[in-house]
Amino acid sequence: MRSPYLAAALLLAPAGIMAQSTPDQGVTAKAIKAHVAFLADDLLEGRDTGSRGHQVAARYVATQFEAMGLTPAVKGDWYQNVPFARVQPKDDAELTINGRAFTHKEDAVISGNGRAEADILFGGFCLDKPELGLNDLRDLKVKGKIIACLTGFPKGMPSDIGAHLNADKVRVLSARGAIGYLSIRTLEREKQRPWARVIATADDASVNWLNADGTPYDAAPNIKVMATLDRAAAARLFDGTSRSLDALLAEADKKGGKPKGFALGKRAMISRSVGITPFTSPNVIGLLPGSDPAVAHEYVLVMGHLDHIGIRTSPTGPDAANADKINNGAMDNAAGIATLLEAAREMAKAPTRPRRPVLFAAVTGEEKGLLGADYLSRFPVVDGQIVGVVNLDMPILTYDFTDVIAFGAEHSTLGPLVATATARDAVKLSPDPVPEEGLFTRSDHYRFVQRGIPSVFLVTGYAGDGAKASEAFLADHYHTPSDDLNLPFNWEAGAKFARINSLIATEIANAPEAPRWYADSFFGKTFAPAAPKAKRP
Ligand SMILES: [Zn+2]
Repeated sequence: MRSPYLAAALLLAPAGIMAQSTPDQGVTAKAIKAHVAFLADDLLEGRDTGSRGHQVAARYVATQFEAMGLTPAVKGDWYQNVPFARVQPKDDAELTINGRAFTHKEDAVISGNGRAEADILFGGFCLDKPELGLNDLRDLKVKGKIIACLTGFPKGMPSDIGAHLNADKVRVLSARGAIGYLSIRTLEREKQRPWARVIATADDASVNWLNADGTPYDAAPNIKVMATLDRAAAARLFDGTSRSLDALLAEADKKGGKPKGFALGKRAMISRSVGITPFTSPNVIGLLPGSDPAVAHEYVLVMGHLDHIGIRTSPTGPDAANADKINNGAMDNAAGIATLLEAAREMAKAPTRPRRPVLFAAVTGEEKGLLGADYLSRFPVVDGQIVGVVNLDMPILTYDFTDVIAFGAEHSTLGPLVATATARDAVKLSPDPVPEEGLFTRSDHYRFVQRGIPSVFLVTGYAGDGAKASEAFLADHYHTPSDDLNLPFNWEAGAKFARINSLIATEIANAPEAPRWYADSFFGKTFAPAAPKAKRP
């Protein structure tokens, strides 16, 4: 799961019992455990994108694909080698507002590569979707300006739509000609992410994939530089204007609160530069051919990210010198890859092949911004169309989940297929318990949603022990070295999660029609305006 987070009673006999009598026993807890134990071993050093540990993990996945009889999907090879650049910020960050300098990593966090100097506009949440009642940019001429925006989206909006609009904000402002961006943290954001944590990652290298001409891909090419402001620095923006920051933050904290934008009558200069180092890292992709020539060009994609965040460079605290520095990523996302491998094995050994071909992809660069998936969505490895996506990322496998949140399911005809698949294991579908986390845009399927492809992403739910287990994982282990084999794994839950996702993929592959967006879906309308739609049942 990309940084900021992220779920039924067992009706089938436990795998361990079945193992004694049947050689062909379905997904077993042992198999899930074995994959996670290998992938989360210290030897793989946290599987950072581009690292040797990740390469070893990729080799492991390819070997598993080969053993289960999948076909190499990339022109006879298992690997789609993605060209990347590591982008390291230099020590030259500058920000001034009306000539007054603000200090990087104290008052502000400055990022980007370039320099912008211009008048500043305040744009509220800076969201422009009139059909949803969002008109923050209607009366603002953002071209050539630096725009200051509140983080997130108005309270009370559907979380998946809000998360998408928020993630797309800078790209939209760039397309309208804004040249710089100032981020003002809402009260909600201040709670979620203390300023000390913002500063701690301020000089981290970032990664992006490279265009054919060797330049890093940039979704927002006009906005070269940006800065996130702490409370005091943000308050200065509003000095001498008709409104105070405190009043604006209070308004934005109310349900449906949408502070209106205005020109701040101030000028800002933002500047920073970077160093760029190219490297490659693979997506690993196997194919299970379909059985029906009529739908041979309609591919189903089952995907999970194999990369994690590598070795921690600067442990803090009293025991820092001896502290475990390897971010093993057992839950994030060895658990998802284990699920993918066992779902693939289930489908590959089934007596009848699915009608549609199924691609299994262990993608790279997720933790760096869903990059391997983005690349795969733009540079397909097969002739034909990916028609539906099942994504696997960080199931919390420390309890016997009895419900799941199926992100994306309510937007397309994938919904009923998911409901059928989860019902077999008596798993219920629940609404998003943490809408403020914006999970829908924080994993790989989102890149395919952006290409107009119906997608679904299951997260283990909050029913029963789920809330406690999920919250404990997120608070204490997410993106830390303690996301390792010492967690109290329930391997049977892993087997159940694999069975459910395998069944979802099978249902998609065998359905009479390829998945369609519902006509009223925001994502269908936004990303696949011309595609034929289905009527919501
Ligand atoms: Zn993650």
